[in-house]
Amino acid sequence: MAKKPKTAVTPTRAEDYPEWYQQVIKASDLAERSPVRGCMVIKPWGYSLWENIMRSMDDMFKQTGVKNAYFPLFIPLSFLEKEAEHVEGFAKECAVVTHHRLERGPDGGLVPAGVLAEPLVVRPTSETIIGDSFSKWVSSYRDLPILINQWANVVRWEMRTRIFLRTSEFLWQEGHTVHATEKEARERTRLMLDVYAREASEYLAMPVIKGCKTPSERFPGAVDTLCIEAMMQDRRALQAGTSHFLGQNFSRASGIRFQGADEIEQFAWTTSWGSSTRLIGGVIMIHGDDDGIIVPPRIAPAHVVLLPIIRKPEESEPVLDYVNRLAQELRDKRYHGRGLVVEIDNRDIGGARGWDWIKKGIPVRVEIGPRDIAKDSVFVGRRDRSHKDKRNMVRDQFVGGIVGILDEIQTALYERARIYRDEHTVTIDDKGAFYRYFTPDDLEKPEIHGGFALSHWCGSAECEEKLKDDLSVTIRCIPFEGEFGHSAETGRCIVCEEKSAQRVVYAKAY
Ligand SMILES: [Zn+2]
Repeated sequence: MAKKPKTAVTPTRAEDYPEWYQQVIKASDLAERSPVRGCMVIKPWGYSLWENIMRSMDDMFKQTGVKNAYFPLFIPLSFLEKEAEHVEGFAKECAVVTHHRLERGPDGGLVPAGVLAEPLVVRPTSETIIGDSFSKWVSSYRDLPILINQWANVVRWEMRTRIFLRTSEFLWQEGHTVHATEKEARERTRLMLDVYAREASEYLAMPVIKGCKTPSERFPGAVDTLCIEAMMQDRRALQAGTSHFLGQNFSRASGIRFQGADEIEQFAWTTSWGSSTRLIGGVIMIHGDDDGIIVPPRIAPAHVVLLPIIRKPEESEPVLDYVNRLAQELRDKRYHGRGLVVEIDNRDIGGARGWDWIKKGIPVRVEIGPRDIAKDSVFVGRRDRSHKDKRNMVRDQFVGGIVGILDEIQTALYERARIYRDEHTVTIDDKGAFYRYFTPDDLEKPEIHGGFALSHWCGSAECEEKLKDDLSVTIRCIPFEGEFGHSAETGRCIVCEEKSAQRVVYAKAY
């Protein structure tokens, strides 16, 4: 019998995907659980990933005219009540501050005291508090548009949590804009979705499908919710960013009025759009393998690690000297707007050293010992290839080619993910086949099955509900015209066989 290959992470993806995910986070030192249930400690390697995502996205926001600002963490309860659907959607997961002081109780312990006249909600999202500011900032059409983004944390009290994917507190950005016309607001909604799609595909190497949500999956209070959806390696969908056209719902709720050029007072049109640290969970699940995470070079906390090989004390100085000079030369290079980040790891811990970096997913590992130096060459391993697949390169060739190598890795990761998604996308018109597709062989064990199904939908919430109850399958999006899987052909709903205008993307989702 063939020996089971040794992997740096156990269990493997095939053995137990959810547990593999938790173990990758641990092995790659991205984050850990905190003493507060449902909250995470993001460690430097994980936070640096987030910083690079922030930087690249923030640049794109600003290129479209958006400016950053900051609004309060606390939202008066009465604000949240202003938009009926909105409060309904978030009520179940609100953390509420009711006191403002601690006092010594009868047994000496600290007890909350000083009841607040009006409870404050820890922001689950900021439409209402930002809307209050906007109502003061806007009076004439000349004040529009307002294009604001905030980088912040939010709290949504989750009962079942998973690091990065679903936590009670998470980091995100939320954009909020105000416009004079519906057309302009709708264009902005789409523009920001396109920014998310660019971030996903160009930086995270994550192929996404752009589309809009069905009414039941919309953001509470939105008229339209646009989204990007990606396939993870367990073939579930991950929503990687959403952009909402809010119509005049929130401007009515918050009183965002302006006088038009015709001197008639009217309500403004607003949008909001958000993406979060959940993207890191997506990067882990779309690219990771049984040896750990693989970070796309464009958001990598570090691009290259140099591993000096020193076997005798007298080798130390010449090898380290060579390595330091090589590091400096590499750091002078630029890769997609950033200086190349190079780590030198000269810990004396044997083979564990190389494995540490494999688990962390650094794009390029370079081993350098006296024999390599004598030949003026380096020994290079790429994280997108097997850990055994290491090659000798002439030093100058390596330095001259490093940017190209990183680009190759970035492209390879994207292509691999795209092929995987396409291989696990099917067109289904038969209800029995649809049910079989989304039913695992062994109901007792979590196993990887299914994928994306392009099937018809009549437009009714009942049919969506039925699939959710029976199979935990939802409509991830109605793809835009020309997008993945979009086809104008009419057909019959996969559930009820009523007429359907187009195929939609069905999947199990995070
Ligand atoms: Zn139907």
